[in-house]
Amino acid sequence: MPVKPPLLSVAEALKFLLKSAVPLSEIETVPTLEANGRVLATAQVSRINVPGMDNSQMDGYAVRAADCAGGETRLRVSQRIPAGHVGAALESGTAARIFTGAMVPAGADAIVMQEACEVDKDGSGDHVIVRHTPQPGEWIRCTGEDIKAASTILSAGIRLRPQELGLAASVGLAELPVLRKLRVAVFFTGDELAMPGEALKPGAIYNSNRFLLRGLLENLGCDVQDFGIVPDRLQATRETLRAAAAGRDLIITSGGVSVGEEDHVKPAVEAEGRLNMWQIAMKPGKPLAFGEVHRAGGGKAFFLGLPGNPVSTFVTFLIFVRPFLLRLQGVEQVAPRVLSMRADFNWLKADRRQEFLRARFNDKGGLDLFPHQGSGVLTSTVWGDGLIDNPPGKTIAEGDQVRFIPFDNLLN
Ligand code: AMP
Ligand code: MG
Repeated sequence: MPVKPPLLSVAEALKFLLKSAVPLSEIETVPTLEANGRVLATAQVSRINVPGMDNSQMDGYAVRAADCAGGETRLRVSQRIPAGHVGAALESGTAARIFTGAMVPAGADAIVMQEACEVDKDGSGDHVIVRHTPQPGEWIRCTGEDIKAASTILSAGIRLRPQELGLAASVGLAELPVLRKLRVAVFFTGDELAMPGEALKPGAIYNSNRFLLRGLLENLGCDVQDFGIVPDRLQATRETLRAAAAGRDLIITSGGVSVGEEDHVKPAVEAEGRLNMWQIAMKPGKPLAFGEVHRAGGGKAFFLGLPGNPVSTFVTFLIFVRPFLLRLQGVEQVAPRVLSMRADFNWLKADRRQEFLRARFNDKGGLDLFPHQGSGVLTSTVWGDGLIDNPPGKTIAEGDQVRFIPFDNLLN
């Protein structure tokens, strides 16, 4: 019986990839409004307090708490302060009508919400009856409660989400320094590939990986150049590699990384640069090529060759390419968050490889497994909510806790 070659573990391959991923150093300044998904290059410090002034958390009346200490109190309403307006100092024995977000006038130390007050129509002029005894500070948002001036609000190396942009805007930052976008080239090997919209000739299949990879890269904020389908010929593959390397940081391909006669990626990359062909102990997946393509004028582009089966392409991207390109973009935290979940199924065939099983949440608080785990079955990725990360050699019995990585934690 032939002896199977030793396989590289997922952890070993990932460690090697991340060691090679030296982050980009070019920084650009972009408007905060356009910085969604970009990686922050330097830590940001607030120059101001937020809130910048004590302000009302309610629609109601600003009072001096001591004036209302004796129970129900009738006060003259001396002024009206909407948000964005500055009132006069509050005299003792009076109240100010005030609205949410409006600056608390000097002298006032509490807000009584309007539901606890009654406008006194019988009295002379404008009066209010306060039926609640406020504590000093009640319903007041204090200066600097959210952010203190000179404090760091965002650290370097984080990917900016809408909430980070909102926070940056709340301290008045109109622009942010970010790393330039990673420039990625993609191409797809296989004479069998056709594009949706074309008629399928006998033996042909649609190029689903093109759509998968483009979407995955766009989600991760990359600038993608798509070289389309490249025929299974050495010269064509080499030419495309050279063209791609010229202006790109990273080249990603799908297919052609097995070692069959029709797999030209290996010799093409070896002729244009350097290549490691890995057999990884993972399922789906296994073959992964990592190397570099030299540029004519010096320098190089990284090369990653993914297997052609669509689920393998998808999973190897999520497990290897995602952390690699996040790190190239200067992101510190590249490991996805993992949940511990209960398996509501049996998985009785242990595999010597680490498996990434497509599963989804059920409404009993556990996970269901997709019945077909084949590497060509893209349906599993649409049906599923994520991947169970199952160690080599392990079976799963109903009720076991498993490691589950939701797609939400992998696609962004
Ligand atoms: P390969 O790695 O080139 O031997 O391809 C492995 C399997 O994946 C074959 O069944 C291919 O037809 C299929 N495949 C390769 N590239 C693609 C693609 N871009 N889209 C869909 N299937 C593909
Ligand atoms: Mg092929």
